[in-house]
Amino acid sequence: MAKKLRKKRGLLVVVSGPSGVGKSTVVRRLLKLDKNLTLSISATTRPPRPGETHGEHYYFITQAEFDKKVKKNDFLEWAKVHGFYYGTPLSELKDQLSQGKKVVCEVDVQGAASIKQAVEQGKINAAAVFIFLIPPSVDILAFRLKKRRTEDQEVVNYRLRAAIAELQVMEKYDYIVVNDKVESAAEKIKAIINVEKERTLLN
Ligand code: 5GP
Repeated sequence: MAKKLRKKRGLLVVVSGPSGVGKSTVVRRLLKLDKNLTLSISATTRPPRPGETHGEHYYFITQAEFDKKVKKNDFLEWAKVHGFYYGTPLSELKDQLSQGKKVVCEVDVQGAASIKQAVEQGKINAAAVFIFLIPPSVDILAFRLKKRRTEDQEVVNYRLRAAIAELQVMEKYDYIVVNDKVESAAEKIKAIINVEKERTLLN
């Protein structure tokens, strides 16, 4: 019985948190630690950063393509983040979940709230767990944003203010994970996923 359920029902793992907290680095590490996880690849209108490739980090698309997808309801959720648009492709995610896969979605706090609502409304037939990644301190967050050096000071300050506001939403999440070290944050998320996979069998 348990085996049958395990096969049928996927697990949606939503990893969110403030900008610059290191979500994508932790998620990349997590995917290396647990080969049974699948990444939901988002679409974005943001131009690729050096080293980013289409179909691996994001689907890099134009604003017109993005707007078309929004109209066609191709996204589970979409949001404007720091001036660019980001969306979670719906049909790909549904396919993966219907195969019983554990799918990781790395989204901003708006995206996580929308996904939560979609799950509650039964738009997605899967168990879901919401994980909020926080920096050890806001100071370190500022340092990390500065170190990134891909944005100028004004953008850093803007992102920092947004990050502080984002921290206030964390009580809506199932788990809060401190990103002290990438490896240990990824290990903690891996442990959460393993526990949730067992727990959701009972739901
Ligand atoms: P970046 O441009 O640094 O890769 O991402 C900027 C922000 O957008 C991050 O907080 C990231 O988690 C978020 N993001 C990435 N993909 C999606 C998505 O599909 N939906 C939403 N709502 N946010 C996303």
